Amino acid sequence: MKKSTPRRQFLLQSGALLGAGLLANPFSGWASPLQKSWTVGEIMDLFISQVPKAPFAQTVDTIKIGSRDTVVTGIVTTMFPSIEIIKKAVELKANLIIPHEPTFYSGQDETDYLQNDPVFRGKYDLLAKHQLTIWRNHDYVHRMQDDGVRIGVVEELGWKDYYTPGSPILQIPTTNLKAVIDHIKTRMQVPAMRYVGDLNQRVSKVLLLPGAVGGKTQITRIQEHRPDVLICGESNEWETPEYVKTANELGMKLSMVEIGHSASEEGGSEFVKNWLQTHVPGVPVNHIPSGNSLSVY
Ligand SMILES: [Zn+2]
Repeated sequence: MKKSTPRRQFLLQSGALLGAGLLANPFSGWASPLQKSWTVGEIMDLFISQVPKAPFAQTVDTIKIGSRDTVVTGIVTTMFPSIEIIKKAVELKANLIIPHEPTFYSGQDETDYLQNDPVFRGKYDLLAKHQLTIWRNHDYVHRMQDDGVRIGVVEELGWKDYYTPGSPILQIPTTNLKAVIDHIKTRMQVPAMRYVGDLNQRVSKVLLLPGAVGGKTQITRIQEHRPDVLICGESNEWETPEYVKTANELGMKLSMVEIGHSASEEGGSEFVKNWLQTHVPGVPVNHIPSGNSLSVY
């Protein structure tokens, strides 16, 4: 969580002076600082407008609760809108949460079968009570000119110098698997990670696939790029981990690391926060990591 940038504070202060009629308009021809308020729909449309071939006819990026017409008092970006995140949003007087992942436990956020479920009700009713709006931003941020999530994750890992826009391959200075895992643990504040392979294996060619792109896609990318290591969010145990294990049993040099879904893409929520601070001036935005629901013991 970072405080407002000095630039934004300047704009806000200038806006206050303008509102009080104390200052002639120094921003003529520059519309955004004069905008007094933003609705959810305006923010959605602005983000979507800079995504190639958007809006999409089929997308999971819908409003899960609340309304397009709500005037936004503040925004929280995160991976999963947990109860803790909802309570923090209320504390911050933010009435729009933009998560990357589902609110109600499935890809399409189906709720028909949950209507009488006490867990669903606890969350839904809390959101309703505080009149919060949730807009999922998954498909749109991934399909920007260059994947916004990947950019955010690369920045979080401090690997910008090794990144080629549009590519999931990073050529990092030669190290070993153990050092790569330690680096991720430190940068992403993850206590432990599951991996397949030899901790002493040499690593320089990294295949970075945050989130859960699916076993077949992970294996196809390994075929295409022949990396030293696949770094991903998660994988079904019976798919890619078994493939990488077989590769090791056959004497091939290949390893994989699972960061955990949430941490592996949390950099994307930081990216969205930064985007909003630049493009939606005057609205306070905070990124709050939602953490992994699974603990290690
Ligand atoms: Zn994602």
